[in-house]
Amino acid sequence: MNASTAIDTAAIRAALPSLSRRVHDDKSMIYLDAAASMPRPASVIDAVRAFDEQFPANVHRATHQLASEATQAFESARGDVARFINAASPEEIIFTRGTTEAINLFANSWGAINLSDGDEVLITAIEHHANIVPWQLLSQRTGCVLRVIDCRDDGSVDAKEAEAAITDRTRLVSITWISNALGTVVDVKAIVAAAKSRGITTHLDAAQAVPHRRVDALAIGADAMSFSGHKMFGPTGIGVLWARSEMLQGMSPYQGGGEMIKSVSFEGSTWNDPPWRFEAGTPNIGGAIGLGAAVQWLEEIGMDAIASHDAAMTSELVDRLSHIPRVVLVGTPADRSGAVSFNVEDMHHADVGMLLDRHGIAVRTGHHCAEPSMDRMSVTGTVRASLGCFTNSSDLEALDTALRRVIEVFG
Ligand code: PLP
Repeated sequence: MNASTAIDTAAIRAALPSLSRRVHDDKSMIYLDAAASMPRPASVIDAVRAFDEQFPANVHRATHQLASEATQAFESARGDVARFINAASPEEIIFTRGTTEAINLFANSWGAINLSDGDEVLITAIEHHANIVPWQLLSQRTGCVLRVIDCRDDGSVDAKEAEAAITDRTRLVSITWISNALGTVVDVKAIVAAAKSRGITTHLDAAQAVPHRRVDALAIGADAMSFSGHKMFGPTGIGVLWARSEMLQGMSPYQGGGEMIKSVSFEGSTWNDPPWRFEAGTPNIGGAIGLGAAVQWLEEIGMDAIASHDAAMTSELVDRLSHIPRVVLVGTPADRSGAVSFNVEDMHHADVGMLLDRHGIAVRTGHHCAEPSMDRMSVTGTVRASLGCFTNSSDLEALDTALRRVIEVFG
């Protein structure tokens, strides 16, 4: 049991087989790249394997037993996700390939109908590209305009400044909950409330929030939210767009094909009900089933326990890095979670990352698909250490030791 929290990191680590990998001359591997992708629990791997081995059939289409088992497992995973984020019903959960596809779906299905020339979409300066580029593409088609809420020099976002950025033309506020590049936690509840009081639609990029804290769709008050399976211990290639059912009812299809229709003739077609209206073609059935298993795994550990553990580990990580000579933190927001970016004076971030890897420490380097955040912090990129509920103090100590060694030998 970790001293600072109520979660059993030893038991959690035992459930994550990839953490026991050894790398580079049999060194133990210290995984500090959780913000890119979480490791996969054995129960998730087993759930996907059960689908592949026992009922690898298509959903919603056939009458035979295997197809009905696949359909039941797929729809039951939808129910798991709905319960996990406290959605009003499973029908509010649309399975996508990930956050990126979820936001593209929302931009195309909601945005293309509801945004026109001069309408403003408000985002923050610390978005992932997935919550920037879809709106730029939409702007080319509809003439809508992207407006940016600046962040402070420490990478935090001032909710009052966000509110002040709302104009008469703002039609959508689409913001990240937690920045993948800087670790900033945005006060989304306050910003959503300010937008809602003016009747503005809100969407949250919750990709980095769902693995670290309790996400309650109804309590947070937003209209839509996107997240990825692989960032919450589920498989790759699966993610979710959640939206209030009234919104989904008014949205047009994202892609056309099988299963998203009620009827098709050469004269025209009619659409299925949500969520199936937005899931054209054969979905990632195994991925959805794996995501359901990931949700159950997280629920067993408990999201409140995870949140306090991750907060304790994040603050230990910040503290350790702040005491290493020549290490400069990039982004120092007071409210942060999971990810810490830094650079080493006179060393390139890619070199630091590569040298840490030789010590068995897995971190990410570069712009983290958040180039505007890097520009705002006046850097070309950073080294990013990011953690999850499996991280313990020994991991952080290993990073501390390896980084000091890298700086001593190569810096
Ligand atoms: N938004 C945030 C905040 C992210 O961290 C990421 C991935 O790093 C994405 C969106 C895109 O997620 P995906 O690549 O799973 O679609």
